[in-house]
Amino acid sequence: MPKPEWTLLIHGGAGVMRRAEMTPEMDATYRAGLNEALEAGSRILSCGGSSLDAVEAAVGVLEDNPNFNAGKGAVLTLEGVAELDASIMDGSNRKAGAVAQVRTVKNPIRAARHVMEQTGRVMFAGPDVDEMAAKAGIEIVPPEYFITPRRLQALERAMAGDLQPIDCYGTVGAVAMDAKGNLAAATSTGGMNAKPPGRIGDSPIIGAGTYADNASCAVSATGDGEYFIRASAARTICARVEMQGMAAEAAAKATLDEVKALGGTGGVIVLGHKGDVALSMNTEGMFRGRTDATGVRQVGIYVDE
Ligand code: ASP
Repeated sequence: MPKPEWTLLIHGGAGVMRRAEMTPEMDATYRAGLNEALEAGSRILSCGGSSLDAVEAAVGVLEDNPNFNAGKGAVLTLEGVAELDASIMDGSNRKAGAVAQVRTVKNPIRAARHVMEQTGRVMFAGPDVDEMAAKAGIEIVPPEYFITPRRLQALERAMAGDLQPIDCYGTVGAVAMDAKGNLAAATSTGGMNAKPPGRIGDSPIIGAGTYADNASCAVSATGDGEYFIRASAARTICARVEMQGMAAEAAAKATLDEVKALGGTGGVIVLGHKGDVALSMNTEGMFRGRTDATGVRQVGIYVDE
């Protein structure tokens, strides 16, 4: 199959509600949110825009959607605040930017892009990120903006020892290839529900939660961050594609098997440099979507869709 002129894949996290508990209204709301993100990214790609702009736009839409664990609606730390992590990578030059423990930047993915393009550094963490973003004119909001009743309840449940998958992994991410063949990846998260303050997962770690290289593939991950870090999951998938000639699907499966062997669950979206794609998980489901220049437009939640 010739590769489409452009392709966009997104995810909204690998922790989904058990089918029996998902109401038709919630199902429709999640699918609408995924479609909105696909729309934002594909609008850019179909006009000849860059994969970098497309992944930033798609992730930005999911950050603004209170149903996903990123930006507004992010899960809360044990202390009841949102501490947000995000990263972005440009496959054409392997430049990358990441931010961690952000508390007031409305769209942490914008701060990650600022780090990549304006600082000559790769990663910043803590209150300095909020300050840097404010100085750069990136929108700042009060910490309460991120907090939703649903996440407060989830925190209470976790404190009482009842940790539901839907409350765990809802990280968002996007990978894209543009008409020039450039790959990009972006990931944004609130991390894990009831995490101890200061804990940082895989999402802002280049090579763990996010990676993009035109020579291999673009990856965004979601799941138990500690295991994705220990497996260097995103970079390992790209290495399998580049050095072993694996297709996206096989490289994703082999790496998720490694994560599982370590004790972790989750999923990845992978877009290979030849246009091959994978939306893979070792969980019951992963909120996900795919669209490309040939008119493909799909969203899914459960593993068997
Ligand atoms: N990977 C994220 C983390 O560990 C969580 C998620 O995917 O929802 O912070």
